[in-house]
Amino acid sequence: MKTRLARFPFVKTLDQFDFSFQPALNEAQIRELATARFVAHGENILLLGPPGVGKTHLAVSLGVAAIMGGISVVFFTVADLVDLVQQDVKEDRLERRLHALCKPKLLILDEMGYVPLDQRSAQFLFRLISRRYQKGSIILTSNKSYGEWGDVVSDYVLATAMLDRLLHYSTTINIRGESYRLREKRKAGVFHDLGAKPVKSSPSSSPKTQGEGQSEINSRYDGL
Ligand code: ADP
Ligand code: MG
Repeated sequence: MKTRLARFPFVKTLDQFDFSFQPALNEAQIRELATARFVAHGENILLLGPPGVGKTHLAVSLGVAAIMGGISVVFFTVADLVDLVQQDVKEDRLERRLHALCKPKLLILDEMGYVPLDQRSAQFLFRLISRRYQKGSIILTSNKSYGEWGDVVSDYVLATAMLDRLLHYSTTINIRGESYRLREKRKAGVFHDLGAKPVKSSPSSSPKTQGEGQSEINSRYDGL
């Protein structure tokens, strides 16, 4: 019942997460986070990395583990939040929404960075983060490095203020590995030709440089 109320996009647990596919991830650290002690301290978790590496899976798993521990959890994508804000402005219930989103002990905000935030949504997100600061935990996932947040919210001062509060009591987990989704597709042969045809003018399409391509992607997440 509580799992349904949390609005997860899917329900998956940590036991369904293949840690051997992401060897750089510290499994012990993730398992410690699954004890949900971080919620008791009002701490946040930031899961960063390119698409398909398991950010949403891990966020949901930690949410499910928290629910098992009797903690209230709500899941939103940032895009959902932008839609809600637009609707709530029309219906004059933004304050009520803010109040409601401060209630769950753990709020999961998925996919920060996929959609740009308009000014009103960015301000709403800032107020939400500020209100929850040291009181209610947030798990946030993003494909953007912190340095890119200014572009996402189109306001560098606001982005810095958000990050200041989010990061003060927090754990950041950078997932640098390969996309699980693409691995499944590769296994099915969908990307076979892409890897098999080296094109001289485009070295990144040769099999050897595919790995370098990956580290290029990952270097965006270095030194966050
Ligand atoms: P992201 O949010 O980083 O884009 P997801 O968490 O949505 O990626 O993962 C994409 C799909 O691959 C999901 O179905 C997820 O359960 C699965 N997945 C990703 N990483 C793993 C993993 N290490 N072990 C098992 N399943 C995984
Ligand atoms: Mg995701």
